[in-house]
Amino acid sequence: MTGTTAELDARIRAEVDRTREEVTETRRVIHRRPELSLQERGTADLVAQRSADLGFTVRTGVGGTGVLADLDSGKPGPTLMLRADMDALPISERGGGRVVTSGVDGVMHACGHDGHVAMALGAASALVALRDSWSGRVRLCFQPAEETASGAMPMIDDGAAEGVDRVLGIHLWAPLETGRVAVKAGVIFGSADSFSITIQGRGGHGGMPHTSIDPVVVTAQVILAIQTIISRETSPFSPAVITIGRVTAGTAFNVIADSAELLGTTRAIEAGERERLLKRVAEIATAVASGYGAEANFWRGSGCPPVVSDTETADLVRRAAAATVGEDRVDIAVPITVGDDIACFLERAPGCYFLVGAGHPERGPVPPHHSAYFDIDEAALPVGVETLVRASLDVLG
Ligand SMILES: [Zn+2]
Ligand SMILES: [Zn+2]
Repeated sequence: MTGTTAELDARIRAEVDRTREEVTETRRVIHRRPELSLQERGTADLVAQRSADLGFTVRTGVGGTGVLADLDSGKPGPTLMLRADMDALPISERGGGRVVTSGVDGVMHACGHDGHVAMALGAASALVALRDSWSGRVRLCFQPAEETASGAMPMIDDGAAEGVDRVLGIHLWAPLETGRVAVKAGVIFGSADSFSITIQGRGGHGGMPHTSIDPVVVTAQVILAIQTIISRETSPFSPAVITIGRVTAGTAFNVIADSAELLGTTRAIEAGERERLLKRVAEIATAVASGYGAEANFWRGSGCPPVVSDTETADLVRRAAAATVGEDRVDIAVPITVGDDIACFLERAPGCYFLVGAGHPERGPVPPHHSAYFDIDEAALPVGVETLVRASLDVLG
């Protein structure tokens, strides 16, 4: 248990009950009008208004469309950041029969960030009501552009992490059943980086390839060769991924293109592996291309380090989760090779990023995050709010 008194325990539950409907409604409002990374203006306006109504001091336009909202208890104590990401994905929602669907064609909250924002506002509302039970400061951090791993650093450059002593964040997790929470000290999400490679060949006639340098054939070799970084150079005990997600080349069946472009991503659970993977992708692409008389140019895009929770904060989140859902419904999370740029905040202050189950097992297989059929179970929202409130009170108690 969290060490809360029976009276405080009852007040926490009452506050979670009080905010339940509003949290659900907020999630639906945000779900209906999803916004892509760095375009979260409507969502930013909504969170700024709601935070101000709760008595928070609000700063908008932080590192772009980010919003910071601070509340001081008036009593000395640490500063706790509650971070929620706001962006949606370029996906057309499918699935029908939902309680709520996207009202914007081609844009969808397919990762649960609508719920993250709603839970942070719900926890903020509860913490305002429980203000006599904590000291220090609460900072709400509504972050843009998590999906492109380019939202946290501009906010940090704009001062978002200054004075922050502890960070808490939730990812709703559809593969995990609603009513379960998964926590892990150490790495929970891997690093995530993006890169592009241009293969410059020499175009010509499709019927006379010997007079050209075919960048498509070189690209095929590069794609296969870089997979050996995982299969031949990386320990099987150190999970890592290289994916080429997009290949672009050519204009017609009988034309050899001048150049080809590859876009890809690397993921690693160990921090040290992150740089090695990117370095080796560049080296192998360059060497393979030059072996065929072509030239490879490598660009590194946005990225973030692995998401690491410290032991002390993970322990207190585990206690908060156990008080919320029961000891037997708190799991030890398995590291996952997705990324999240909350990692950049967690590099600057200790904290914990944890998973709140949001899958509907009764409806059969749960569509994965980033799928057009993705959906969360809204019953997960109060679980997230309560765990966040209990963990916050533990940090600020
Ligand atoms: Zn996502
Ligand atoms: Zn996400």
